[in-house]
Amino acid sequence: FMTIKCKKCSTPSIIYQPYSGLHLCEKHFFEDLERKAKLTLRQRYPIRKNDVIAVALSGGKDSSVALLLMHKIFGNRPDIKIIAVTIDEGIAGYRNESIERAKEMTARLGIEHIVRSFSDEYGKTMDAIASEKRLLENHLGDEKKELGACSYCGVLRKKILNKVARDIGATKLVIGHNLDDEAQTIMLNHFRGDVERMVRFSAASELNGFIVRAKPLRKIPEKEVALYAYLHDLPMELTSCPHSFGALRKEVRRMLNGFEVNHPGTKYSLVRGFDNMVPLLASGLAVSDLQNCEICGEPCNDSVCQACKMLEKNVLQS
Ligand code: SF4
Ligand code: ZN
Repeated sequence: FMTIKCKKCSTPSIIYQPYSGLHLCEKHFFEDLERKAKLTLRQRYPIRKNDVIAVALSGGKDSSVALLLMHKIFGNRPDIKIIAVTIDEGIAGYRNESIERAKEMTARLGIEHIVRSFSDEYGKTMDAIASEKRLLENHLGDEKKELGACSYCGVLRKKILNKVARDIGATKLVIGHNLDDEAQTIMLNHFRGDVERMVRFSAASELNGFIVRAKPLRKIPEKEVALYAYLHDLPMELTSCPHSFGALRKEVRRMLNGFEVNHPGTKYSLVRGFDNMVPLLASGLAVSDLQNCEICGEPCNDSVCQACKMLEKNVLQS
């Protein structure tokens, strides 16, 4: 058995990156990941003096790594404030555990932590919404079935996060999405023919009322985020969500992982290509006609925001 050495020093390596051809030791793996996260922040969402950074913390590996990185990079800056925000969707046997781990982590790092729930905000847990949705689906045609529980959960969570971030005066909202999440989302939107909405959202994020969503991990593969979390003793997903991901996303994930094995760097190219496309496409869109939702007053592209549409029409017919 021969130990493979780190490309940058002679210590035994702990990871091989097929897309870069590098074997790295623990120290140089940490350096590499942290450098990439900093570069992404600098290029896309530069942190400025007196920024208040809200970090969406689910208690899983990605958001925990994102929080730790923000703490490592900006924790010593007296002018910068970091606040963790956890949304309790109300998913029994799943979210309760991760909220406990989120609390432990923020206490250990000495970071202020805010927890808000779907129940407080919408009067319903995600469990209740998922079962109402299932009941409703039995009476609807196939075209209404395509929105999985995660689409509801995601839209409703995003809305609370943006609201809390704005309420606490945050100037950035850090999200733990990794390279795999980003590549899957881009592919999914292509498959659904929904690229316009995504471009609109990417371009609109800096407009009034939307807190800039910063994703420091969007160029880092999920495997590496998981290894970084593991080596730092950070929370990992122990159980999976009972509502789980939609079938289409699972298929896309499998496909992209297959491509990545045979053609290392595929996920990265997909994200980079999309980033290059956004400004070109956005210039042709009317992104400035932002309105306020007639029901909740939150900023949106329509007269009624997506969350209210979901709550009013599709799910809650009380
Ligand atoms: Fe929500 Fe889907 Fe995540 Fe479960 S897997 S917490 S339903 S987004
Ligand atoms: Zn090394």
